Amino acid sequence: MSHRPRIRVLLVEDSPDDAELIQLLLDKSVDGRFVVAHENRLAKGIARLTHDRFDVVLLDFSLPDSFGLDTFLSVQQAAPRVPIIVLTSLDDDELAATAVREGAQDYLVKRETDTRLLVRSIRYAIARQAADDALRSSEERFALAVEGANDGLFDWDLRADTIYFSPRWKRMLGCAEHEIGPSPREWFDRIHPDDEPTFRRKLCAHLDGDSEHFRLEHRIRAADGSWLWVLTRGLAVRGPDGKPSRMAGSQSDVTARKRAEEKLQHDALHDDLTGLANRVLFMDRLACALAEVERSPASHFAVLFFDLDRFKNVNDSLGHPLGDKLLRGIARRLEHYLRPGDTLSRIGGDEFAILLNRVSEVPGAIHVAERIQELLGMTFSIDGNEVFVTASIGIAHSATGYRSPDEIMRDADIAMYRAKAAGKARYEVFDRDMHQSAVALLKLETELRLGVQNNDFAMHYQPIVDLASGRIVGFEGLVRWLHPERGIVSPNSFIAIAEETGLIVPLGWWVLEESCRQTRRWQDLYPSDPPLFISVNVSGKLFVKRGIVDRLAGVLEDAGLAPSSLRLEVTENVVLEHVDVALENLRQLRGLGIQLSIDDFGTGYSSLSYLQRFHYDQLKIDRSFVSRLGQGTDSRAIVETILGLASNLGIGVVAEGVETAEQAERLRQMACPHGQGYWFSRPVAAEAAGNLLAAGPGWFSGAGDLPA
Ligand code: C2E
Ligand code: MG
Ligand code: MG
Repeated sequence: MSHRPRIRVLLVEDSPDDAELIQLLLDKSVDGRFVVAHENRLAKGIARLTHDRFDVVLLDFSLPDSFGLDTFLSVQQAAPRVPIIVLTSLDDDELAATAVREGAQDYLVKRETDTRLLVRSIRYAIARQAADDALRSSEERFALAVEGANDGLFDWDLRADTIYFSPRWKRMLGCAEHEIGPSPREWFDRIHPDDEPTFRRKLCAHLDGDSEHFRLEHRIRAADGSWLWVLTRGLAVRGPDGKPSRMAGSQSDVTARKRAEEKLQHDALHDDLTGLANRVLFMDRLACALAEVERSPASHFAVLFFDLDRFKNVNDSLGHPLGDKLLRGIARRLEHYLRPGDTLSRIGGDEFAILLNRVSEVPGAIHVAERIQELLGMTFSIDGNEVFVTASIGIAHSATGYRSPDEIMRDADIAMYRAKAAGKARYEVFDRDMHQSAVALLKLETELRLGVQNNDFAMHYQPIVDLASGRIVGFEGLVRWLHPERGIVSPNSFIAIAEETGLIVPLGWWVLEESCRQTRRWQDLYPSDPPLFISVNVSGKLFVKRGIVDRLAGVLEDAGLAPSSLRLEVTENVVLEHVDVALENLRQLRGLGIQLSIDDFGTGYSSLSYLQRFHYDQLKIDRSFVSRLGQGTDSRAIVETILGLASNLGIGVVAEGVETAEQAERLRQMACPHGQGYWFSRPVAAEAAGNLLAAGPGWFSGAGDLPA
C-alpha cells in the first residue's frame, strides 16, 4: 500500500471521542495514507505546527484554551500556508462560515461526516491551498517586479472610462492615495502642454490599432508643480470586434536620465566660460531663422559678428583670469540688453555673435550695434580694475539673400574685418561689393599659395646711382609675381596678402637667396670698389622672427656674398611695433656686418630721433618728397633737413622716385649722395640689369626712363 500518498494531518480536538472517530474515518480511506498527529489544546497544536510539517489541520473550534474564530486565526497565523478545515458541532454553523470567509478551506460538521466526505474535503483543501499559494507567489513576484522596476501602473477601462492608478503611480507624482481619483482626466490634465499633442496622437494611434504598443517619454506635473520626465508604456486589450476595451500599462520616472541627457546636451551647445550659446547652437538657430525667412519673408533677421579690439592687451596686462571675468561680464551685460528672442553667442576667444530676430531693415541692426558699442564702453570694474573695451562689429542682414548659415557668418565676418581695418571700435554693414573683393582676395590667396609652391616669381633690379658720378653703386631687388594668366604682377598687389597668410616667409627667403646669388655673380663680372651692393626689402613678419640672423648668415655664405654687400630695407613701423626682438636682431645683424636701411622715410610715424636710437646705416627718402621738389614747396626744406641730419649722424641717403632731370639735379645740388628712380632706370630683369653694368660708366645717357 506504499504507493498511496502519505498525507500528514494535525488534528486539534479536545474531545477524545471525536478524535477517535476522525482517526477511524481516516484509517478506512483507500485513497490516501493519513498520518494523524493529535493534540487536545490550541497551544500544543500551535507548538506542533511550528516544529513539524503538516499537509492539513483539522481544527475544533472550542478548545479548553481557546474558543471560536480566535482559535482559527491563531492557527492561521502560526502556519499561514497550511490549509485548515474547521470542525464544528451543529450549533456553530454560522461561526464556521465566518472562518471560511477568513480563509479556512472548508468546514465539516462532526458526527455528520463520513470517510468519503472527510477525505474529499482534505484533498480539496490541500489542492486549493496549493493553487492559492501559486497565485499568491506569482502575485508577489509581479508586485516585486513592479516595485523593483519602480513603475507605477495604470489600468484604464475604456468602456466605463475609469482608470485605476497604482499607489506607486500616484506616489511618483508626489500624490497621496486619495488625491487622485479614477478619472482619465487626472492623467491627461497633468501632461505637459508641449507633450500633450504627441501624447494624444500616439494614444489614438494605438487605440485605433495603428501601433503595436503605446510608448512615449513626456513630462507630467507633480503635486508640487514641478515637471517629471516619465516613460509611459501601454497596451490595449481588444474585444473580438477588434475594439479596445481596456488599456493597461506602466509609468517609469526617467527624470534623472533626462536631466543628465539635458545637461550633456546643454554642455555640448553652450560655452563653458560664459554659459552663452556656442557656435554649434548659434549656427543651428541661424538655420532656423533662415528657414523662417523662406516661409515668411517678413521675418527678416540680422547677424552681428564682433570681436573685441585689443582684447589680447587686457589678457597680457591683467592676466587671463581677469580676461575671463571680463568676457563673462560682457556676456551678462549684453544678455541683459538683448530681447528674449535674440541669441547671443560666444563663437570663440573674444568673438561674439548675435542673432537679432525680426529686424526688417538694416537700420534696426545698426541701432543695436551702436548700443553694444555704448554698453562695452561703460567701464567694467573687475577685481578693482576699471576696464572698458571696444569692439569691431560686422553686420549681415538676411535681406541680402542667403542660402546657408555659413554664408551669413562669412559675410558678417567680412564686414567685421572691414570695421577693424577701418580703425576699430566701429561697425560695418556687409554689402555685395565687400563680397566681391573678399572673393577676389580669397582667389588671390589661393593663387599666391600655388605661386609660392611653383616658384612663379622673378627678381627685378633697379639701379641705385651715385648722383655725383652717375655710376651704379647698387641695386634694389624688387620681386615680381609671374602670374600664369595675369602676367607680371606688382608686389603692391600681393605683398600684403603674403604677409597676412604667412607666405611672405618662404617668399622672403627666396628673394634674399636669389638677390644675394645674383649680386655675387655681378660682383665677379664687374668688380668695383666698394663692391656692388644689393638692397632687399624685408617684411616685418620676417624681420621680427627670432633666429633670422643665423639663417641670413647661411644665405650669405651659400651665395658667397660679403655681409657688407647686403642692405636690408625695413619700414619704420616694423621696428617700432616689435622693439624688443627688432633691437636684438639689429644688434646681431650689425655684428655680422649687414647694413640696414629705413625705407620710405618720412611717411611712417617715427620721429627723427629713432634714426639715432636704432643706428640705421641708410635712409631712403620717400618718393613723395622727391616728386614735390620742383614745385617750390616746403619739400625742399624737408629734404634739406633730412640730408643735414643724416650727414651729421653719418647715415647714408638714397632719394627714391627720381623721375626727372630736374629732380636729379636738385638732389645733386643738395649733396644727396644716392638716387633711384625711373629717370635712371625702371626696375629691370636680371639680364637687362647686367647689361647696364656691362655698359660701364657711360651706361646712363641721361635720356631717362619715364612712363610714356
Ligand atoms: P619700395 O621698397 O619703396 O620700392 C620702390 C617702389 O617704387 C618699387 O615699386 C619701384 O618700382 C617704384 N619706383 C622706383 N622708382 C620710381 C619712380 O621714379 N617713380 C615711381 N612712381 N615709382 C618708382 P615696386 O617694385 O612695385 O614695389 C613696391 C613695393 O613693394 C616696394 O616699395 C616694397 O615695399 C615692396 N616690395 C617689393 N619687393 C619686395 C620684396 O621682395 N619683399 C618685400 N617684403 N617687399 C617688397
Ligand atoms: Mg624698398
Ligand atoms: Mg621705398
